Amino acid sequence: MARTPGPGWRSDRVSQGYVADYKPFVMVDGEGVRCALYVSGCLFACEGCFNEAAWSFRYGQPYDDALEDRVLADLAHPAVQGLSLLGGEPFLNTGVCLRLVRRVRAEHGDRKDVWCWTGYTLEELRAGPADQRALLAEVDVLVDGRFDLARRDLTLAFRGSTNQRVLDARASLATGHAVPWRRLPRHTAR
Ligand code: SF4
Repeated sequence: MARTPGPGWRSDRVSQGYVADYKPFVMVDGEGVRCALYVSGCLFACEGCFNEAAWSFRYGQPYDDALEDRVLADLAHPAVQGLSLLGGEPFLNTGVCLRLVRRVRAEHGDRKDVWCWTGYTLEELRAGPADQRALLAEVDVLVDGRFDLARRDLTLAFRGSTNQRVLDARASLATGHAVPWRRLPRHTAR
């Protein structure tokens, strides 16, 4: 059973500003060609997690200006649709993720989209601290919820268990309820 978020789950307390990996020009972490940043550190401890090494907030390397410049340069390629934020837990690394997405918005506006994978639910993030709500406001597609081994389904697109959702984050915030992302491939939509 994954852990439930508590009051101490705050980026300013747990994040070390580390990233586990960066992969430019990938086609599996969201729609189209993408640049994917994997931040380090997660507290959920889901059984069967695909990336236990990244539970440590000191796994990998520190995020720095050089990596950020590289991500922005790669994103500028016309074939790249957008940025994907994965973990670890992006919402426990808002120092890294907010800084990056704000620069993406400053340089690309809405021409590049932002996908984010999180163990939090949309509802938890909407009730969360200001930094989490600020990051949520910059996300276009949110893949939310803990990985549940008992509900694992390898045929699902973009997520690992049937409780997880692929959400249109902007529409969800605008309407106040979870709105599924409409372009989810039909044969795998649940
Ligand atoms: S939320 Fe994601 S990264 Fe964190 S433990 Fe669960 S599956 Fe692993």
